[in-house]
This record gives sequence, structure tokens and C-alpha cells, in this order.
Amino acid sequence: MLFTEMGLSQKILMGIEALGYEVCTPIQEQVIPELMKQENDLIGLAQTGTGKTAAYGLPLLEKIRLKDNYPQALILSPTRELCIQISKDMKSYSSFLYGLKVVSVYGGAPIEKQIGDLQKGAHIIVATPGRICDLIRRKRIDLIKISTLVLDEADEMLKMGFRDDLDAILEQTPVGKNTLLFSATMSSEIMSITKRYMKNPIEITIGEKNAGADNVNHIFHMVHVKDRYNTLKRIADFYPDIYGIVFCRTRKETKDVAAMLMKDGYNAEALHGDLSQSQRDYVMGKFREKNLKILVATDVAARGLDVNNLTHIINYNLPDDIEVYNHRTGRTGRAGKYGLSVSIINMKERGRISQIEKFIHKKIEHKPIPGGEEICKKQLFNMVEKMQNSKIAEEQIEPYMPKVYNILEDLSKEEIIKRFVSLEFNRFLEYYKNAPDLNVKDTGRSRDNFRKGEKQKSRSMSRILFNIGKGKNITKRDVINLIIEIQGASNVEIGQIEIYKRATAVDVDSKLAKLIIKELNLKTYKGIKIEAAENYEYTGNDFRNRNKGFRKKRR
Ligand code: AMP
Repeated sequence: MLFTEMGLSQKILMGIEALGYEVCTPIQEQVIPELMKQENDLIGLAQTGTGKTAAYGLPLLEKIRLKDNYPQALILSPTRELCIQISKDMKSYSSFLYGLKVVSVYGGAPIEKQIGDLQKGAHIIVATPGRICDLIRRKRIDLIKISTLVLDEADEMLKMGFRDDLDAILEQTPVGKNTLLFSATMSSEIMSITKRYMKNPIEITIGEKNAGADNVNHIFHMVHVKDRYNTLKRIADFYPDIYGIVFCRTRKETKDVAAMLMKDGYNAEALHGDLSQSQRDYVMGKFREKNLKILVATDVAARGLDVNNLTHIINYNLPDDIEVYNHRTGRTGRAGKYGLSVSIINMKERGRISQIEKFIHKKIEHKPIPGGEEICKKQLFNMVEKMQNSKIAEEQIEPYMPKVYNILEDLSKEEIIKRFVSLEFNRFLEYYKNAPDLNVKDTGRSRDNFRKGEKQKSRSMSRILFNIGKGKNITKRDVINLIIEIQGASNVEIGQIEIYKRATAVDVDSKLAKLIIKELNLKTYKGIKIEAAENYEYTGNDFRNRNKGFRKKRR
């Protein structure tokens, strides 16, 4: 359906026309008429990038009374970056609604300036929950006349620990308001919010609940851990027009991968938690403007980074949490465009791929890593196409052309083309001459099927057991951090991690197992001294020594 068929006012239609929007996305087609029709609470289950900002934003703008100079709508979003994006979008939609004021307030920026902006008047406030609570405590914001509250990316807000802040804000806003909640997934916590704070909400789901974005294709390459980086380079070379994010597991890995890419001549930079806010802004700005083609990031740092038209999401390492995979890949395939999610995995992670497939209801195809010849071919034709489409700056080059013709006079047209193409192409030919095959055969066997007591399949991994478990709220991320903090083990291959009630089992590269056990035994976790050992398994109550039969171990 067209926006012109949605019953929107002329001034708003002019704003969206200026943005180039013409046809509604599926969520807009469903949500806009509902919100235009009546005052309803609404739950929208949709991935990021489906056009939900306009879906709630346009009807919301229709309801603002410009002459009433007080906040009438509050939009909450999890991050500063998303806040900025939403308020930018709202300002664009309303560029012909003269006098409409949108103010954004978020953490990590001086609060005094934001208080000043609020004092100048705001019809719509876009905010992060933490900053709003701060302003409420300081009595610098008045939400009493809010008639619409939007919770955007509600699942992300909960994940970031904003539950208490959300409760506090929801208590502060008038009972008669409309609440619109948008989330990529419907968790039990989201359900509890909707039950507690929403009145007969209409539920609109775009795609399947918890399903991955529709126009994203998913593939994986299976490699040895040592070949992960070279595989990434092949991907970057195979897709010459790549504009994407490479997701890493730790800050260190992020820094290392970005540094290697830069050293190897790729247009890449890192985004991680060790950067200052201004460094983050700089990198994000560069990426947004496409002056940066590859962003290497941790999940946390990339949250809220709203960038359109990403061609690729590369999972340099799979996330521990399957939902995070969904969030990563939701950043590509937006607004009708196609995207590709590429995961680089090792043999042990094969089972994780099946788990993710079940969660996203989509097949993740095992594709061979492109070989040298294919890459060179792709690069060659990309270059030829670029040359064919390049604009000629007639006036600027004209003065130099006679001399250029003179120099090349003796060469035939064919020779000139060949030499020109070789200029760039030789670099790839040289690099990929004798390039090895990096693919590992898929035996279809999953290490995730590894059950308690079963002997380990891979001789190169050792299973370490230690005395901290669910009782101490240890997470897989904590286990990884405990290990990679050990000097000499920062790049160790870590396999399956199983967290039991009172113990944790983790598979690590056998070569480093002794060092890791020794170092773990010197550490404490939440005040408890860690006791780690190899060749034990946990039976639910006891530790059993695999080699020596049953034996209780002190806990
Ligand atoms: P959102 O999910 O709101 O972040 O939107 C994702 C991207 O799609 C943004 O870049 C929007 O500008 C763009 N977009 C949203 N709706 C439309 C539309 N109907 N036509 C074209 N682009 C759109």
C-alpha cells in the first residue's frame, strides 16, 4: 500500500515523500491504520529495520497538538544511538509541521544541556530510560500530560537491565495514555510488562515470532580455528562491495582482528567498550557515512548502532546467546534489501548452527570458503564494472589528456586495457597464487551432542571441571573471561561449556589445559576459591574421576 492511502495529513505526506518513502513496509501497512483508527494500546513484534519507527511515528505525529507547548509523547529506546536516530527520523517526518519540537535525552551527554532543551519546550521526548529517571528524580521533567508512550526495542531495554527504570517511568505517566510496545522477541518478561501496563493491546506480528528477518540469507564456513582470520579476509575479498559488521566475542579479539585487517590494507576499524564516547562517535559516524566499509565490533558496542543498507553480517565467532544472533543479523536485510549473514565456525560449533536454525526457523547453509581463483575472478569483474560505470571528469582531465595519449601512443587498445586491469588485479593474483583450501569437511557430527560421561571425540580438546556452577550465577561469558584472562591463554580454543548446579565443565585446547588448570586454581570467583581439575565429570552430586572410577571430591 502507498502512504497516500493511509489517511495521513498532507504535511506529513510531504515529509515522508522528501525522504523518498512511497510504499509502506508490512509493519507500516498494519500498524498505521490501527493507530490512526482509534486510541489503542499496541504490541508490535518486529525485527529492527522493518520500518517500525515510521509505523508508530507517523500516527503519533498526527496526534500532536502544536499549540500545546508541553510533552505529549515519550519514546523510550535502549541506547543513545537509537535515541538520536529516532529523533532524527521524527524530525524528518515532521519537517513540514512547522513548530513541532522533538527533544532527545540520553546518558553519556551533559544533563544540563538536555534540561535546557526541555525547558525550551518539547512536544515529543525521545529518551533512554536511565536518563529519564534521573530527570524525574531532579524534578526536571513533567510527564503528567503524556498521551502516548512508546517502548521501542523493549526486549533490548530489558536485556540492558532497565526493568526497574521502566517500572518507575510507567508509574509516573498518566493512566489514560496509550502504550505502544515494539520488540523483536516476545519473552516472558515482555509479557509481564504488557500484562501489567497495557490495556487490551492489539498484537501485530511481522513474520514469525522470534523468527529471523526474511530477506537475510544465512551461510556458514567451517574452518580450523587458526584459519579464522584468513577466512575473514577471503570473505572481504570475495565481496568487493562489502559494507558490514564483523562481530567478535571479546574486546581483545575485536581490537586484534581490526588491527590485522587495517595492517592488511582493508578499510576497517574497531568499535568496542574501551573507546571513549568521542572515539565511538567518530568511528560510528565514519561507518554511517560509508567512509568505513568494515566495522569490527563487540555486541555490546554495536547496540543501537542504526546503520542502513548493510550488505553483510559476519560472525567471526558465534554468540553464546542465540537471541544475540538474531539481533546481529537483524542489522542487514532492511527495508526490502537483501543481506547475507556469514558465520565462521569450527567443527565443534556445528551443533550450535543447528540450534540457531531451530530458533530462527531458517536454514543456515554450509558453503565452501571461496578459493583464490573465484576471488580473483570476482575482483576482476568488479573492477571492470567499476571502470565501465565511472564518471569521466571531462573538464578536469582534459588538460592532461594530450600528454597521456602521447605516452600510450604505441600501445594497442587491448594492451592498454590489459595493463590497466593488471594494475589492481596483480595484487590479488599474487596473494592468492597457491592459496590453500581452508575448508574443513562437515562430518555432520556435533560436539554439542557430547553427553555427560561420554568420552571426548576430539583428541585435541581436554575437559576441565571446576567447582563453580549455577548456584553462583556463573555465565558462559564469565567462564570464557576467566580463561582468556590467563596469560598465555588469551587465544585458546574454547569448546563446549556446560554449567551445572555446583560445577562447570569446559573444553579447552589440550595443549593449554595444564596451564589453565594451574591458573584457575589460583583464582577466586565471587569470593570462592576455584578448584579445577581435568578428567573429572559431574554426576549431579559428585565428581567422578574418569580414569579411576568413582570418587568423591571435596567441594
Ligand atoms: P526502522 O526499522 O524504522 O529503523 O527503518 C529501517 C530503515 O528503513 C530506515 O533507514 C528507514 O529510513 C527505512 N524505511 C522505513 N520505512 C520505509 C519505507 N516505507 N520506504 C523506504 N524506506 C523505509
